[in-house]
Amino acid sequence: MNILLLGSGGREDALAWRLRQSPSCDKLYAAPGNPGIARWAECIALDPCDPAAVVDAARRLGADLVVVGPEAPLVAGVADALRETGIAVFGPSAAAAQLEGSKGFTKDLCQATGIPTAAYVRTQKASDALRALDQFDIPVVIKADGLAAGKGVTVATTRDEAVAAIEAAGDGPLVIEEFLQGEEASLFALVNGDAAVALASAQDHKRVGEGDTGPNTGGMGAYAPAPVLTAELQNRAMEEIVLPTARALAAAGTPFSGVLYAGLMLTADGPKLIEYNVRFGDPECEAIMPLIDGDFAQLLNSVATGRLDQGDAPQLLPKHSMTVIVAARGYPGTPASGGEIREIEAAEQVDGVTVFHAGTALADGALVAKGGRVLAVTAVSDSFANARARAYRAIDQIDFADGFHRRDIGWRELERTEG
Ligand code: ATP
Repeated sequence: MNILLLGSGGREDALAWRLRQSPSCDKLYAAPGNPGIARWAECIALDPCDPAAVVDAARRLGADLVVVGPEAPLVAGVADALRETGIAVFGPSAAAAQLEGSKGFTKDLCQATGIPTAAYVRTQKASDALRALDQFDIPVVIKADGLAAGKGVTVATTRDEAVAAIEAAGDGPLVIEEFLQGEEASLFALVNGDAAVALASAQDHKRVGEGDTGPNTGGMGAYAPAPVLTAELQNRAMEEIVLPTARALAAAGTPFSGVLYAGLMLTADGPKLIEYNVRFGDPECEAIMPLIDGDFAQLLNSVATGRLDQGDAPQLLPKHSMTVIVAARGYPGTPASGGEIREIEAAEQVDGVTVFHAGTALADGALVAKGGRVLAVTAVSDSFANARARAYRAIDQIDFADGFHRRDIGWRELERTEG
């Protein structure tokens, strides 16, 4: 099977690396790709968010399957355009991608279906939001929705802070939510129509600074699996959250197809949904790919062609994996660009280590930084502690003067395992 992969980050480098090892993968193309992805795939210059251009390229390359890495092409309708022309695609329609694009859509779906999530109110005007605030205890969570999205999420620990967040958002759609107490974990499930199977769990680290301090980032590191999401809790999350979501979307005539990433809060009352994403997380994907056993390309093709049933349950190796992001100085503000990176080969000499490229470019034959998150150093081992030790040993080999990373990825798990 010939495969076209869309995207250019660390997530896509990990997907390409894993697809390349699949017996059923013949030619592998990536658009636009990056210097890391070019190790496993032929990179094609192409705007992955242009549906007509992607359809043309898929036809020209004889692609049997298109795998969409990031969210933007999904929202732009790339999966719809491919499906309309009969090309198998791993990734949901723009309608199903609303699960990620609209917090209000997802909250309403949860309420209508009885899916456990934080109690909430949707408002359109600041005055309504201020009135609605009285229904909630403090802390309370204020989220921008719809066209105003991107302004982010405020977890307000005082009423004044909540009022300030509402006033700062102005008139526009908001979701006001009950604060959920617990530990967060991510569950990745493969979904096609009303069928869904769990793929893997992970935990990420959003803040730039050690001890989970400083501004939010795309993610500074992750590990998989997340032992805090026990088999029992994972089954519960599948039964109470993921499967009802899949069934509701199928019943509404907008079936989901692809990977559904459930951001969960593990509360005293069980797992509750915080948010959905409609693609793999980055860097969770880098941590998960080395754990997947079997023919991954075939598995994605089964999802894309509607042949996912319980018999296709993905198999995970009984191992642990950790990804530590090396970012460029200045990230998540303006990152230093163009700094040279050396000794990746030395890092990959460490047992079980692969260095995925998140934001790199070639300049006059040298590998340089291009972007905030630059490398995703990933290590696998038989235990969490060994995977972690290997990842940091590998990072210590890398020569990248402009780079920085968190030294405390996995601290929660470390505290748990070391007491
Ligand atoms: P991202 O996609 O970057 O995770 P987002 O803008 O889509 O963020 P959410 O995932 O909904 O927003 O929320 C961001 C973070 O805020 C969550 O990861 C969680 O830490 C916190 N949070 C959100 N909702 C709640 C809640 N109801 N109770 C407690 N914490 C919450």
